[in-house]
Parts: sequence; structure tokens; C-alpha cells
Amino acid sequence: MTTLFTHIKSLLQTREETEKPIIGEELRDLPQIDNAWLLIEDDRIKDYGAMDDDNLPSADKIMNLEGRYILPTWVDSHTHIVYAGNREQEFVDRIKGLTYEEIANRGGGIVNSAKTLGDTSFEDLYAQSEERLKEVIKLGTGAVEIKSGYGLTKEAELKMLRVIQKLKENYDIPIKSTFLGAHAIPTDYKGKEKAYVKMVIEDILPAVAEEKLADYIDVFCEKGYFDLEDTENMIEAGKKYGLKSKIHVNQFNSFGGIQLAAEKNVLSVDHLEEMEFEDYKSLKKSETIAVALPSCSFYLGIPYSPAREIIKNDIPFALASDFNPGSTPSGNMNFVISLACIKMKITPEEAINAATLNAAFAMELQDEVGSITAGKKANFIITDRIPSFGFLPYAFGTNSIDEVWINGKNFES
Ligand SMILES: [Zn+2]
Repeated sequence: MTTLFTHIKSLLQTREETEKPIIGEELRDLPQIDNAWLLIEDDRIKDYGAMDDDNLPSADKIMNLEGRYILPTWVDSHTHIVYAGNREQEFVDRIKGLTYEEIANRGGGIVNSAKTLGDTSFEDLYAQSEERLKEVIKLGTGAVEIKSGYGLTKEAELKMLRVIQKLKENYDIPIKSTFLGAHAIPTDYKGKEKAYVKMVIEDILPAVAEEKLADYIDVFCEKGYFDLEDTENMIEAGKKYGLKSKIHVNQFNSFGGIQLAAEKNVLSVDHLEEMEFEDYKSLKKSETIAVALPSCSFYLGIPYSPAREIIKNDIPFALASDFNPGSTPSGNMNFVISLACIKMKITPEEAINAATLNAAFAMELQDEVGSITAGKKANFIITDRIPSFGFLPYAFGTNSIDEVWINGKNFES
């Protein structure tokens, strides 16, 4: 089955090959073909080019886009969309003046989500998570990473990861699963942090590996959570089971986590709101991808990751949502793009590159998604009739997406 899309106002992010993340000044260039056609065959992109009415490929079905844009779907390389319940009460507490750390100290935060999740059945957890997944696909996300980390016990962590597994089985978009047992210290391990890390590594991780439930391993490297020693232990433990690391680091403090992660050449370091000279220096020497999460900064009112500095240092830079119940109750990548432009002072071209191709590298899906390239998955967004692609981040809060195609099919139909 072939489908030909014609009269595309502009086909964005067309690349013949995608071997490396885009860095530095290259990020300013978003390759595109104005007045284009796109041919897909079954679930794959077959070919594309500039409109020439006398010389178009034949196809089983032809769709005239009448001046709408096509761009690859967003790739969201950092989410926590499997969770139970919501945390509106903490939202109100924060409005009244409590900090994220104060809420955590009162038994709120991640530990609160863990309690709710423990009391939620597998079926219910799946149903709640599936709703969020469908919501983000409709908002243009065509590949997603999902973490555990609201279980904090063996049973509950496995439950989360099995939910992710079932989402992988039931949905056509690529999903990567990350084991984040070291997300927070559960209440019954207060004062016994090292014993918790040991339990995660020696008890939970082998069970996760045995069932092949994770693609990656993660740890929340932050003051009051997990220190450098814990972080190194988690990275090394993951390696034993063939799991690469994606690390939460430098959200509130810079204390060597990035240097450690870069030395270990982890796949990605995520958050990076607080960056020191040494952090840039060590990332520059590694292949690690820097992933910024501007929606989290927006929601918590904390600094934004210094994207301009990261880009200036030729460090591969990606954007993700961090969709989670505590600090980012939104998986809207369109808003992430807007925030990145407005608050991090990057251009629409840079933001789109960071949220498509570079994000694909942050979850090792660069051969499948992230650009309009022959052979890649036919996962793309058809926009409304908008004046320019800069309109997407400019008109923040407006949904300018008309259709989302996943595996060569309109997701809604
Ligand atoms: Zn996160």
C-alpha cells in the first residue's frame, strides 16, 4: 500500500542520512523542501521531492495537502508517563509557598506517587498510562521513552515496567523502557540510603533483567537523593546487564554528576538546569547527549537549562518533556518547543532539530525516527494551514496539528 502526499507547503527535516547528532551551528539549519511531495509505502517513508505535476510517482492513494506542512513526529526521550493518580494538592501547596524540597520532606513528591502506585492494580495503572500515551501521540509524539521509579519496591517497580512492556506490545510507536529504581529513597529506607541502593542493584535489577523489562537504567543524581557513589554503582550495575544509562543530573546542584556520567560515556544526561564550566568541558569530550526539560523549569519556577551555552560548546543537545505527576504534568512537546524558543533563546530550527533527530539519538532510534528519510518509519505530523513553521512555537498553547501519522496510518483513523 502506497500513499502519496502532494502540494505540501514545506516538507521539514529532510535528510538523506542521519549518522550523527546535529551540533553547534549545524542546528540552525533545518533542511526542507518547499512545495513538496512525500511517498510512503506501508509503514515506511519511501521517497520525497519537489512538486512537478508531470513527474510524480504513482501511488495507491493520493492526498493533496493544499499547503499544509509535514514534519517528523516529536521524539520524547524522557518521560514518566506510567504513574497512578495525580498531585494537584501539592500543586496548590506550592502556590501557597512550599518548595519542592519541603513538599518532599513532608512525605509528598515521588514518595507520595509511590504510595498511590503501590495501591493501584496493574490493570488500572495500565489504563491510566494508556490514556496519557494516546494523548501525547495526538499531540505529535511518535516515539517515547518511559521510566519506572514510582514503585520503589521490587513488586511495584516490576509492575510499572510490565505496564511499559504492555504499552510497547499494544502501540505502534517505538517505546524505550528505563529502570529508575533509584528515583527517591522510600520512607522505610530513610537513614539507610546505601542499603536501598544495594537492594535496587542486588534484588530488583536482576529481576528486571531476567524479564527483559528495561532498555536503559537511570538514577536521580542529586543532593538529598543519590550521590556520586550511588550513581556510579547504578551505571556499573546496569552495564553488567547490558543496559546503557540515562541520568537525571544537575537539576538543582552541580556536584560532579555530569563529569562522572561523561567519563562513563552514558547515553544521555538529563535536566542540566545548573551548569558549571567543568560540566561543559567534560561533556565536550564525551558522546553523551545533553537533554533539557524546559517544561519542568516552567512548572517549578527553576532556571532553564543554558541551551545557548550547551550548543556553543558543540555538545549534542536534545529536548524532552519529562512528563510526570510532580514537576511536569504535561507531555505536550509543542509547548516544550515554544518554551525552548521563548525561555532558552533558541531558534525554531534549533528547537525542532533538538526535539526530533537529536532526541532520536538520545534513545538510539536515529535509524527509525527523527527525520524525513527514506527507510525510516512513516511517523509524521501534518500541520494546520499555518503561515510558517515558526508559527508552531510562536503561537504557544495553540494546537496547530491537523493529523498525526504513525507507521503510515493516521493515528485517529
Ligand atoms: Zn525525569
